[in-house]
Amino acid sequence: MTKALFLVDSYLKKSKATVSFVKDGKFVFLDQTIFYPKGGGQPYDTGELIKETEAYKVVHVRKFSGEILHEVDHDGLKAGDEVYCVLNWERRYKLMRSHTAAHVFASLLNKGTGALTTGNQLEEDHVRFDFSLEKFDRELLEEYLAKSNQLLGTDVPVKWYELPKEEAMKIPGVVKMAKAFPPDLPSLRIVEIVGFDRQADGGTHVRNLREVGKIELIKIENKGKNNRRIYFKLN
Ligand SMILES: [Zn+2]
Repeated sequence: MTKALFLVDSYLKKSKATVSFVKDGKFVFLDQTIFYPKGGGQPYDTGELIKETEAYKVVHVRKFSGEILHEVDHDGLKAGDEVYCVLNWERRYKLMRSHTAAHVFASLLNKGTGALTTGNQLEEDHVRFDFSLEKFDRELLEEYLAKSNQLLGTDVPVKWYELPKEEAMKIPGVVKMAKAFPPDLPSLRIVEIVGFDRQADGGTHVRNLREVGKIELIKIENKGKNNRRIYFKLN
């Protein structure tokens, strides 16, 4: 199993790794990685694997049979090679800030209205967020954005840790996705916005709400009761 370093330290921008296996020349498996694979609404990381003086661009990262597969732009790597992983940190850091912002909004909305998340997609320049809400009320949503902004940019720590599944499932609202089934694992990874929210989550987040900045509404769409849709971006 690829050791997912980003789950423990989301601020690792560089790290060493050993190639464990290469498939069809361009699909590279490592013993450990800082590259986030596409999943849970968070896009994959990009960057480079560097072997001596040669850089292999990482163009896609995804999960594959429990492993993490790095697709690179050209052939040449082989099992046993020592590589240096370097993230496109600007992209990743923006996604971390967006992901934490999305949790703040989802949490406030869930607490205030009971709305569940029905879909979410982070992009480099915006966040799309879908949720179920009985009544479509633009003003109410704008109010929750304003509430989120009161919290964002203030000094509130964010932590992540593993909890035994049984204990984690006792936390009210720990799963806010309408159709999410907790994974069949003995423990769950919890992302906690201290004093506000605890959510089962495998994504990468910032350590403090101070780092997020503010969010700005792009647009609100009404796609039916289970798909009220909001787009926002970071400022
Ligand atoms: Zn999340």
